[in-house]
Amino acid sequence: MTPLKKLSCDICTTSFTGDTFDAWFKQMQAHYMNDHADVMASMADKPKSEGEAWVAAAKKRFNAAQ
Ligand SMILES: [Zn+2]
Repeated sequence: MTPLKKLSCDICTTSFTGDTFDAWFKQMQAHYMNDHADVMASMADKPKSEGEAWVAAAKKRFNAAQ
């Protein structure tokens, strides 16, 4: 069984738990759309590579979390 990991948002202190990065990331996406819509909007104007770098950094954080 994969242990549940708890990791906070990279902008605020809201935390989400998930057993996989995808499960955690799905919650993060919903949270971003609700609470950080302005960040989402500013990201939309940036090159795709920046969004991918953000996802890669988030994945690294998730893998490093206990
Ligand atoms: Zn947040």
